[in-house]
Amino acid sequence: MPNRINFKDIYVKPQLPKKLQKLSELAQNIWSTWDTDAYRLYSRIDPYLFRKFQHNPIKLLQMIPETRLKELSQQNGFLHELDSVYNKFQNYLKYKGSYLDDSGKHQDFDTSQKIAYFSMEFGLHESLPIYSGGLGILSGDHLKSASDLGLPLTGFGLLYRYGYFFQKIDMNGYQREVYEENEWYSKPVKKVKDENGDDLTLQISILNQPLFLKVWQIKVGKIPLYLLDTNLEKNSTEFQKITDYLYVSDKKTRLLQEIVLAFGSLELIKKLDLNPAIYHMNEGHSAFIVIKRLLDLIESHNFNLETAANYIRSTSVFTTHTPVPAGNEKFELSLVEKYLGSHIEKLGVSFTDFAKYAKVNNEPAFSLPALAIRFSNFINGVSKLHSQVSQAMWHDIYPKIYEKEMPITAITNGVHTQSWLSRPITRLFDRYLGTEYTHTGDKENIWKNILAIPSIEIWEAHQQRKEQMVSFIRNVLKNSLMHKGAGRSSSEIINNSLNPAHLTVGFARRFATYKRANLILQDKARLLKLLLNSEKPIQFVFAGKAHPADEKGKAMIKNIIDFAKANNVQDKFVFVENYDMNIGRHLVQGVDVWLNNPIKPLEASGTSGMKAGMNGALNLSVPDGWWPECYNKENGWAITAGEGMEDPNVRDTLEANQIYELLENEVLPLYYDRDQNNIPHNWIEMMRNSMYDVSRNFNIHKMLKNYINKFYLPGIKLIQKMKKDDFAHLKEFDKTERMISEAWPEVEIVDFKINLQEKTIVDSGQKIEATAVLKCANLPAELIETEVFYKIGEDHFKLISLNLQKQSQTTAEYSGSFQLVASGKQSFNLRVKPKKFCCKKFYEYIKWYF
Ligand SMILES: *Cc1c(COP(=O)(O)O)cnc(C)c1O
Repeated sequence: MPNRINFKDIYVKPQLPKKLQKLSELAQNIWSTWDTDAYRLYSRIDPYLFRKFQHNPIKLLQMIPETRLKELSQQNGFLHELDSVYNKFQNYLKYKGSYLDDSGKHQDFDTSQKIAYFSMEFGLHESLPIYSGGLGILSGDHLKSASDLGLPLTGFGLLYRYGYFFQKIDMNGYQREVYEENEWYSKPVKKVKDENGDDLTLQISILNQPLFLKVWQIKVGKIPLYLLDTNLEKNSTEFQKITDYLYVSDKKTRLLQEIVLAFGSLELIKKLDLNPAIYHMNEGHSAFIVIKRLLDLIESHNFNLETAANYIRSTSVFTTHTPVPAGNEKFELSLVEKYLGSHIEKLGVSFTDFAKYAKVNNEPAFSLPALAIRFSNFINGVSKLHSQVSQAMWHDIYPKIYEKEMPITAITNGVHTQSWLSRPITRLFDRYLGTEYTHTGDKENIWKNILAIPSIEIWEAHQQRKEQMVSFIRNVLKNSLMHKGAGRSSSEIINNSLNPAHLTVGFARRFATYKRANLILQDKARLLKLLLNSEKPIQFVFAGKAHPADEKGKAMIKNIIDFAKANNVQDKFVFVENYDMNIGRHLVQGVDVWLNNPIKPLEASGTSGMKAGMNGALNLSVPDGWWPECYNKENGWAITAGEGMEDPNVRDTLEANQIYELLENEVLPLYYDRDQNNIPHNWIEMMRNSMYDVSRNFNIHKMLKNYINKFYLPGIKLIQKMKKDDFAHLKEFDKTERMISEAWPEVEIVDFKINLQEKTIVDSGQKIEATAVLKCANLPAELIETEVFYKIGEDHFKLISLNLQKQSQTTAEYSGSFQLVASGKQSFNLRVKPKKFCCKKFYEYIKWYF
C-alpha cells in the first residue's frame, strides 16, 4: 500500500472589502435568516449561489468571488441597503421586552433572572441540520421568540458532527440515509473561547474517565444557544463519537448523550456564572439535569436531599411532547446505575431508592419524563387535548389524586411567524398590520387587520409563492433523478410536474406510522378518479423522512412512489426527497390545502398545519393536537368519521372515505368556483379566515407569553421568596413537610356524615351539609385540608373545603355545606390532604374516605 500523504486542512475565505464588513457581522447571527430584508440583501449578492448554499450567509460570503465583492462595495445602492439592514439589526438588538405585572403595569424583564432552556434538538435553519422534526423546530422557534420578546433566556443542546441524515430515494423508492460531516467553519456556529483566548473546554467524568467537551455558540438574535460537542482528540475514540448523530437508536450512546447534555450544560452554567432562575426541560431528554442540580445544591448549600428537591421543583419547567408511553425516553435500570450510580450515591440514597423517582407503575425502567414530572412544579402538554392525554398517561405517578388534577397544564404550541410566513404574505402583513406583530403576539387589534386585506392581494401573493414552489420542486426532482441516472422520459415528467393553476394538496411530516402518510391510498381507484379528472384537477405533494430504524415508515414512502409510477401520475402525485426546513417552508407557503391525518390522539400538537394556515393554506385535518382549538368550519375542514372506532381497519376506511368526500364535494368545488376574472372569492374568504385565526392564536409569541405568565414569572417569584433570608422560607417549608410526613400515616378520617345517600335521586339546587371527624395525629388543624370532592361530570368537579369546628387533643371536627348544581349522574367523596402551601407533595398524601 502506498504511503498516505497527510495533508492538513486550512480554511481560506475571501477578504471582505472594508465597506462590506457589516455583512460578515450580520451573517454570524441567525436573525439574518429570518428577517426578510436581510434575506433579500444576501440573495441580491448572488441568488443562485445563495440558494445553492442553503441560504447560509456565511457560506455565501466564503464562496463568492472577490471580484463580485469588490463590485458590490462600489455600488451605492447595495451599500445603502446594507446600511439599512444593519441599522434594523442594531435596533432589533436594542429592543427591550416587558411583561405585565399584577397591577397591569409594563415592567422590563429583570435580566438577572435568567431562564435556561434545554433541548436535544434545535431547528433554527436548514443549514444547521441538528434537528429531526417538530420538537426541534419548536425549540428553535422558542429561542427566536425569546429574542423577539426580549426575554433573558439561554439555550443548551448538543452539536452533532453529522446531525440528522439526508434522505435519498433510490430507483426503487427506498429511502437511503446519507450522513455528511458538518463543516462548522462555514456555518453560523462559533467556538466559545476561555479567558485566555483558547477554546473553552469543559470536563465531566463518565465511569471515572474524563470526558472533555467543546463548547459552541449560535447567536439567535439576542439569545445565546450553547452546544456541546465530544469530538475532541483528547477523548477516547468511544467518547469522541458520542455526539456524532442525533437520535441514535443505540441506548447506551443515547444515555451518554443525555448525560453530556445535562452534566455538561450545568458545568457550563457554572463556568459562565449564569445562575439561572428557571430550568426548562423541553421533553425528557434533558431530565438528568435534576441529578446534577441535586448534587450541586447538596454540595454548595449543604442541603439535604429533600430540601434540594423542593428547591429544584420550584424552579423547574417540564414540557412533555409524547402522548404514547413507548415514545417516551426510558432506560434499563442497570444501564443508568452503571453510568450514574456513583453520582446518585453521593446524594445519600441508594440507587434503588432514587430510581423510584423515575418509575411509573413499578415498571422496572428509568423513565426520564417521570423523573422530570416528579421534580417540576410547572408542567405542560403542547395542546389542550394533549395535556388531557398526558394527565391520563402519567396519572400513575400521583395515583391518589383525581386524574384531572394531574398538574399538567396546556400551553399550545405556536410557530415563529417571521420564519414561516412567505415573503409576499409578510409584505401584506407589514403593510396592513404594521410591524409590531414581530414583537408581540396577543394584541387582537393588530391581528384583526388581516381581515381587511383585499382578496385580490391575498390571491396574488399566494399564486406568486405557489409558482415559486412549483419551480423549486421541479428543481429538486431534477437533482434527485440525476442521481438515479434516469432517461429523457423522466425529465419530461419532471418538467411538467405540478401545475400552479391546479388545486395542490401538501403533506409533509416525519413518516412516523401514526401519521399515516399513505392513508389517501386506501381506495386507489377513487383516488385515481380524482387525479385524472381534468375538469377540476388536483395534485399532491409529499415529503418526509422515516427514522432510519423505522421500516414501516420507509414502506409508506415506497408505497406513495410506487403508486404514482404504476399509474403514471408521477407528474401530479409527487414525492419530494429530503424533507427539511427549506422544503417545509416551500410547501407550507405554496400549497392550497394542508392534509393531516394522524391517528387521534397521537399528534401532540402538530405545527406544520399552523405554518400552512398562516400562509392561507387550508387545513384538512383530523381534529387532533392543535386543530380542535382552531377549526370553526370557516377556516378549513375536519376529518371525524373514524372517531371512536376501535377497529383500526374500519377507522382507516371511514377516514379515507371522508377525505375523498370532502375533496370531491367541498374542497374542489369551492376552489374552482371562479368569477369572470378567474378569482375564487369564497375560497379566498376561507384563506383569510385561516390566516387570521391561525396567526393570532398560534403565533409563537402568544405561546411564549403563556410560558412567561404561567411558569417563568411565578417560578421566579417563588424562588426569590425561597432564597430570602438565607433560604428561611425553604427551611420552614422543609420543617413543615417533615412534620407532616412523620404524622401523616396516623391521620385518619374517623367519620363523614352528609345528607346525601348513594344512588338516590335528588334535586339540583339542593343544599348539602357535610361533617367530618378526623384523627389528626397532633398535627395543627391549619395544616390539614378537609374537603368534599364533588364530581359534577368527568371533567368538572368542585372542592368544598370544610371548616374546623372543634379540636381536641386527638380529634378535630369539620363541617361545611354546598349546593348541588347541573344534573345527571354525579358523585362525591371526602378527602384530607396537607394544605397545599406547606407541602408540595400533597399529591402523595391524599387520603379518601370511601
Ligand atoms: C414544522 C416542521 C415539522 C413539524 O410538523 P408536524 O406538523 O408536527 O408534523 C417537522 N419538520 C419540519 C422540517 C418542520 O418544518
